[in-house]
Amino acid sequence: MRSRTKVLSLLCVSALAFLLCCCGMPDPAAPAEAPSDGASATDAPEKIQPQGMVYYAYFDTVSYVYDYAGDSAERFADRSAEVSHILENYHKLFDIYHEYAGVNNLCTLNRLAGGEPVPVERELLDFLAYAKEMYTLTGGQMNVMLGAVLRPWHDCREAAGEDPAHARIPAEEELREAAEHTDIELLELDFDAGTARIADPAASIDVGALGKGYATEKAAQYLERIGAEGYVLNIGGNIRIIGNRPDGSGWRTGVRDPLDPDGYALYIRIADTACVSSGVYERYFVVNGQRYHHIIDPDTLYPAGYYAALTVLTRDSGLADALSTALFCMDFEDSLALAESLEGVEVCWIFPDGEQRYSSGFAEWITE
Ligand code: AMP
Ligand code: MG
Repeated sequence: MRSRTKVLSLLCVSALAFLLCCCGMPDPAAPAEAPSDGASATDAPEKIQPQGMVYYAYFDTVSYVYDYAGDSAERFADRSAEVSHILENYHKLFDIYHEYAGVNNLCTLNRLAGGEPVPVERELLDFLAYAKEMYTLTGGQMNVMLGAVLRPWHDCREAAGEDPAHARIPAEEELREAAEHTDIELLELDFDAGTARIADPAASIDVGALGKGYATEKAAQYLERIGAEGYVLNIGGNIRIIGNRPDGSGWRTGVRDPLDPDGYALYIRIADTACVSSGVYERYFVVNGQRYHHIIDPDTLYPAGYYAALTVLTRDSGLADALSTALFCMDFEDSLALAESLEGVEVCWIFPDGEQRYSSGFAEWITE
């Protein structure tokens, strides 16, 4: 059980959440079904009213924890406090814009790129090793060392938000030069010494494609370890379901329609799995009437153009997140081949014209 202070601070967050809910945020206390990124399919009446907790602080997004198993209020407070603690820890470790007292995080690694190895916590080393594994698994299509290329796209998107009339995209030459500094081998890990290092001062790390899903998985694994069932984590749209509902009926949720992001392209019924989507509607800016979204194809250095969205179902939320980005950057033949080569991974691709294609087992999850 965590300290009384922690629980009290959580209750404060909860109270703040309540106030924000009253100001138009989604109400975490009254979801009808497993919530997706703030607006899931919720038209079926829910038999068991879940307890909910909401956090606004982590990964620049809204996170929800729901318990459908009927834990006591005190037990739910303890468990969701620990989930909050885990998310907070990874949030700090993965932050590339801020540093925190007493901890070397990814912002520190980027700042010290080209310098000496940096002592880091074992949790961060484990994550970076996993990121390298995911690079290999995805043939480099999900590359956390793409920071040098992602930065100019990010800056242009921010500038476009402030001054849309002068929106521009990065210069081709700038992107080509940046791409010279994205080799995954520039990320050096030394488990014996407990250090990490970025070997090139012009290189940088960006874990936007993977960090949230990985942290979500760590929180889910904690809940599994202590025997929790019937919990739903929705960390900024990365859904991870721990076990099933007591009646075994799963959760019905909507896959957002990328052509009309207020609506749903299809519905699925899921349990004991992660569900992660990547799509063109999530973050983008417009230049001369053309949309530029945030998932960058490492081969072209421009936003990937194969799909409007895709959704990955697999038990591990870190894998689901890595794949959601990587499969988005591959043509359908390669994307399908990678998905089919992995056991327990199902994918729904939605093409720019709205056509849907599924991996061989995905249809089993679809519901009315
Ligand atoms: P996701 O929404 O999971 O697909 O992640 C998208 C985020 O990951 C972007 O906002 C970037 O920060 C980062 N990103 C974009 N393209 C890539 C890529 N090909 N490999 C690794 N990270 C990427
Ligand atoms: Mg991803």
